[in-house]
Amino acid sequence: MVQKKIVIILLFIVLLPLIFYTAYEFTSLNENERLIEEIYEQQMNILLYSVNQHAWDVSSRWIWHVSQILSTTGQPLEKSTQQFLTDNAFIESLVAMDTSLTDLNVFPQSTPDTRSMITRIKKDRSIISKLVRRRAQGYAKIEAYRFDETGKRLMFLFVSETADNEPVIVALLVSTEAFISDVLIPKINEIAREEFVIAVFDPLDDHTLFATEPVTMNEINIKRNIWLLPDHLLGISLRGISVKDLANSRFYRSLMLILILDMILLLGAWVVYRNIKKEMELARMKSDFVSNVSHELRTPLSLIRMYAETLELNRVETEAQKHQYYKIIGQETERLTHLLNNILDFSRMEADAKKYHFEKVDLNKIVAHNLNIYREHLEEDGFTFECNLAEKRLEIFADSDAISEVFINLLDNAAKYSEDEKHITVTTGSDDNVHYLEVADRGMGIPQSEHKKVFEKFYRVSSGLTHNTKGSGLGLALARYIMDAHSGRIELTSEPGTGSRFRLVFPLKEIT
Ligand code: ADP
Repeated sequence: MVQKKIVIILLFIVLLPLIFYTAYEFTSLNENERLIEEIYEQQMNILLYSVNQHAWDVSSRWIWHVSQILSTTGQPLEKSTQQFLTDNAFIESLVAMDTSLTDLNVFPQSTPDTRSMITRIKKDRSIISKLVRRRAQGYAKIEAYRFDETGKRLMFLFVSETADNEPVIVALLVSTEAFISDVLIPKINEIAREEFVIAVFDPLDDHTLFATEPVTMNEINIKRNIWLLPDHLLGISLRGISVKDLANSRFYRSLMLILILDMILLLGAWVVYRNIKKEMELARMKSDFVSNVSHELRTPLSLIRMYAETLELNRVETEAQKHQYYKIIGQETERLTHLLNNILDFSRMEADAKKYHFEKVDLNKIVAHNLNIYREHLEEDGFTFECNLAEKRLEIFADSDAISEVFINLLDNAAKYSEDEKHITVTTGSDDNVHYLEVADRGMGIPQSEHKKVFEKFYRVSSGLTHNTKGSGLGLALARYIMDAHSGRIELTSEPGTGSRFRLVFPLKEIT
């Protein structure tokens, strides 16, 4: 119930903000990518604009040049026009005519192409009047037309004037490719440098007319019309990587970061949950400990009191019975002392204040000494003993009181947790550079899942074979503490129903 509450609280504290945060990051990611794309597009537009502007400047220079030629009197027209055509090699022919299209001058000479240009202009006189009108308003506007189907040549039309301010219609026949390579490419190369791919496309036949590196029209996503070249497109993109790839890679990088962050937060929440759960378990075990210890204290105390009172009132008839009562009082006092010793020792160890008196001792001796004291008492309770003590001395470097305490705890447990088969085996011996002491019983045993936990402070097995035996949950924790202090270890082999075997292992290297 409490755990459910913790889970719900953690969910609220951690998961909800996490979800909101992730959702917010996602939306702002998209927003960021959109902004990046916009900025990128604006930059590309500026670059395209400057290429277009350059083309425009070039055409304005033509208009100015031609008007210079036409308005300069005294110079032969052929010569200066020839010079103009030589300077702009991509202009194949130039036709100058009056607005009624009767007075024609064709340079360098009349060809079927120049004738077809004139025919076309004659067919669409409205364009002439539009250009003349614009010119009168002060715009030096130039118009461009696709001259043939292939788009290989273009016709430029603009209005200039003679020295007498008479408007003159000028038509230029221009080679598209030569125009691009002579006029646009130098500018494009200047802008592109190493960073951009810039290309000129003719979308009518899906053809790349020029590109700073091989590309098709589909590979470049920002394309604009070239003002001067009708139907042609100027495209630009970043070299090597497209803005979409760039945005995508940024997006996935950010996504990964968010996911990693989410995972760390979840991990943190999990750790917090585990800690809270552990603390709660500890709190529960502590409160069990208090009630268990109270019970452990009360039982011997009431026995002692009862027998002491009976003896005091002289109600005991036979000497044998008296002796029996004294013995019970003695045993219960022993039990109380043992319990209090455990608790005091435990608090000393928790406070790191436990002092050991290490010395060379014979493990067999410690075992024999304690068995002398406890064996009879256990046998009276119906236990049979099997002692397999090693024949040689088992010298260890240890605090014999502390080891005795561990041994007594193990014996006490073996007795407490055996119900039907009351048999205890005590074994000592040597193995692989260690000496060991084993206490085995044929009692209720311990499930595998509890093998680690039984050594934790206050922990008592409550699942599986239920036991009504009271205890403090400190005996094995103490045993582990003491064995750690001896650089040794305590091992457990047990299965429910078949009994338990605890082995204290002492290293030999400590002996000096
Ligand atoms: P306690 O005072 O409860 O005996 P211990 O620390 O000595 O505390 O033991 C911890 C738990 O390990 C016990 O509550 C019991 O469930 C289990 N245990 C210890 N020794 C044995 C044993 N010989 N047989 C079965 N269970 C045991």
